[in-house]
Amino acid sequence: LDPTSENFSPEEIDVEKKLRPLEFDDFTGQDQVLENLQIFVKAANLRGEALDHTLFHGPPGLGKTTLAHILANELDVGIKVTSGPVLDKPGDLAGLLTNLDERDVLFIDEIHRLSPIVEEYLYSAMEDYKIDIMIETGPNARTVQINLSPFTLVGATTRSGLLTSPMRARFGIQSRLQYYKTDLLTTIVQRSAMILDVPITMEAAVEIAGRSRGTPRIANALLRRVRDFAQIKGNGSIDIKIAKFALEALNVDAHGLDEMDNKILSTIIDKFKGGPVGITTIATAVSESPETIEEVYEPFLIQQGFIMRTPRGREVTEQAYKHLGKVKGPIQGG
Ligand code: ATP
Repeated sequence: LDPTSENFSPEEIDVEKKLRPLEFDDFTGQDQVLENLQIFVKAANLRGEALDHTLFHGPPGLGKTTLAHILANELDVGIKVTSGPVLDKPGDLAGLLTNLDERDVLFIDEIHRLSPIVEEYLYSAMEDYKIDIMIETGPNARTVQINLSPFTLVGATTRSGLLTSPMRARFGIQSRLQYYKTDLLTTIVQRSAMILDVPITMEAAVEIAGRSRGTPRIANALLRRVRDFAQIKGNGSIDIKIAKFALEALNVDAHGLDEMDNKILSTIIDKFKGGPVGITTIATAVSESPETIEEVYEPFLIQQGFIMRTPRGREVTEQAYKHLGKVKGPIQGG
């Protein structure tokens, strides 16, 4: 089981959609972000204007796509969805932009992966709602400028560090999503269980929430797998016993850490005596980019108390030793 995997089957995508909150009121957590967005949306609605371009950044599965859809719903406008790597040529983008109605939302996931030409092309669309398009070819080729309807670009990125500064500067609203605490994830698990029509005890919801790496997408994925166990091995409802049994069988880490989280911790312990060690050194040792470690993995490990940031680098805590069943001591085997 890899609940972080993006490769869902069509059936799972359907369930995902069913579980996706559609309005501000259904959305749990991220209070500060939500409060601000509600004000901006109200103001835009009042003035009948397009909402300012909005950027969401934060680790995968925390609700960026969900928020883009909620914005469109609350603005009572349409939404077109695409992603950075899909938009290869300016022509692809022009097609999307010219089909937007007034105040519509254009959602670009993984916006840090836009090609430089497409990104440049987007600038004038965002700034003046105008684009140049090339008509005809050969000696008759010329560009014409066309006006677009005022629209809202909603961008999402897991790697805000990779966004160019001109791109970032064009987003009037920028929100960072945080990992969810267990009590919020518990609420999300309970809500999802209700939608899936499966009874669940509070204790079981807390157990699933606590192993979900602070991430609603993982919480929902685990809930669905535990539900399978409850249906086949139990009586269909989820109590703490069946939840624990299922999570054990699925090999889910007690804190919901994934393979890379554990690799980072064991590397710091085994190769660097528990730290302190610099982020670039860690990155090289685990074959990941320093930016990904810093933006995607480290925030959760720090929030959960497995890693500390010190002026001399990253250090693991007692809790990390305990979690991995390792003993603090001199480096083994030189
Ligand atoms: P990615 O950028 O990797 O696609 P994401 O941050 O856009 O991830 P979403 O696809 O929006 O994440 O969320 C994943 C799933 O988690 C959604 O289907 C939704 O059901 C659930 N979810 C996310 N945030 C919340 C929330 N605050 N309350 C309830 N459910 C949530």
